[in-house]
Parts: sequence; C-alpha cells; structure tokens
Amino acid sequence: MNKAVAELRQLLERSTRVVIFTGAGISTESGIPDFRSPGGVWSQTTPVYFDDFVSSEAARIKAWTQKLAMERNISVADPNRGHRAVERLVRLGKVTHVITQNIDGLHQLSGIADTQVIELHGNGTYAKCLDCHRTYELKPILEAFENEARLPMCTQCGGLVKTATISFGQSMPETQMRRAQAATNACDLFIAVGSSLVVYPAAGFPVVAKQRGASLVILNREPTELDTYADLVLNEEIGPTLGDAVGVN
Ligand code: NAD
Ligand code: ZN
Repeated sequence: MNKAVAELRQLLERSTRVVIFTGAGISTESGIPDFRSPGGVWSQTTPVYFDDFVSSEAARIKAWTQKLAMERNISVADPNRGHRAVERLVRLGKVTHVITQNIDGLHQLSGIADTQVIELHGNGTYAKCLDCHRTYELKPILEAFENEARLPMCTQCGGLVKTATISFGQSMPETQMRRAQAATNACDLFIAVGSSLVVYPAAGFPVVAKQRGASLVILNREPTELDTYADLVLNEEIGPTLGDAVGVN
C-alpha cells in the first residue's frame, strides 16, 4: 500500500464523523471534464453570470449551448471508483454527509440518500422557472433548443427557465448552506476531494472545519491555495487513492 493511501486509511480509522466535500475532479474519471484543468470547460468557454442570463438573450443562448455540450457527457456518465468509495463510507456510517459542488447527481446515483448529499451549486439534471420555481425535465428543453433554437419559457408564468444550478453571481441555496455548515461544525475529519478550492463560499467550508478542530485532508491532483491548512495533502488520482484506502474496486 502506498504511503498516501496508508495515511488516509489511518485518519479514517481514527475518525467517527467524517464529511466528504467534492468538486468536479471526482467526476472526471466518469468522463465529465472539470472546469479548471487543462482541457477543462473554462479552457474553451467562459461562465455566464446570473445577471447576464436574466437580462440578455445572447447570454441565455450561450448558457444553453454550454449545457448541451456538458449534457453529452453527464447523461451517459456512471459513478466511478471514487464515488463508490465515498458511498461505502456513508453506508458504513463513517461519513455523515457528502457536501458537493457538483451538479451531475453521481453521488445520488451511486446510492447515497438525498438526506446525506448536500448540493451547494444545485442540480443540473433538471431545469426550473426562476420566478415560480416550477420544475422541468431537461430532455425536451434541450431537444427544442438544439433542433428549433427555442429558449425555454415557463408554461405556468412565462418566466425564464434555467438549469437548477447556481451560476456565478446567483445567491446560494439557504437550506443547503445551513446543512453544510451544521455538518462541517459537527465533523471530526473533513476530506476535500477533487476541488481547486477557489470557488467561494463553497471553498470556505474546509477552513471552517479546521478552525472547529477537525482534521483536514485535501486530495487533489494539483496543489490548492488551502493546502497550508491541511493535516494531510494528497496530490494523487482520486479513484485509485480512495478506492485503495476504503477497499473498493
Ligand atoms: P475545478 O475544475 O475548479 O477543480 C477540479 C480539480 O480537480 C482540479 O484542481 C484538478 O486538478 C482536480 N482533478 C481533476 N480530476 C482529478 C482526478 N482524477 N484525480 C485528482 N484530482 C483531479 O472544479 P471545482 O473545484 O469543483 O469548482 C468549479 C465548479 O465546477 C463547481 O462549482 C461545480 O459546480 C462545477 N462543475 C461541476 C461538474 C460536475 O458536476 N461534474 C463538472 C465541471 C464543473
Ligand atoms: Zn414560472
């Protein structure tokens, strides 16, 4: 067993209330590109800010074009070894909550109950009216956009329909933020997995965990700005590292 895996395993053994915090990096092994790696989504396009989505049709066209491209990967993605290791830890009662920045739904697809997954940036597997909050299936919306260049509008109130994700400049979901705060305050080990830890307020949680006395592990291919706070930094691949540490294939 390599040293990184052994150290992670030891910390897991010593802890009883673990929180796992995930970013786009945990899903790259499922074929979904992250945002900030070379070749990632932001090397090809720029984000659409919430205010622009609301005020500009051109921005809405850009946002739905990006969604269409991302959906080609997400719609066929399955949970990978990293997701399976996290699910095992939840099932064993070791992990109390998974806080995720991801919008791909793969933690739930791996078998973790909604009550234990906290989605900070919403969910990209469906769409929602910005005014009356009515929810819409994604498939017909994407088909109409792709085939007829039609932008979705709410059939109930005429409002703008957007994926149920949190865009830059959009307010954070209050309930999810509260749940994430409570889980972070209560944990004795916080493991950040596959996140560049630059998107706030999400990236504030690892620091809060550390300040509240939990141990902090950062597992990411590249260094992050929060590495100095961590008790253990593992610059490793996620699937093999978590898989070996937890004993999951
Ligand atoms: P990010 O792209 O900023 O960072 C991902 C990090 O993961 C990078 O530092 C990269 O080095 C690392 N990484 C990638 N694959 C890895 C692997 N196999 N093993 C180890 N490390 C790996 O992503 P972020 O921090 O999550 O923040 C950006 C935003 O991206 C989030 O708000 C999220 O909503 C959104 N996003 C989500 C998805 C998804 O749902 N799958 C995909 C792309 C972006
Ligand atoms: Zn509506």
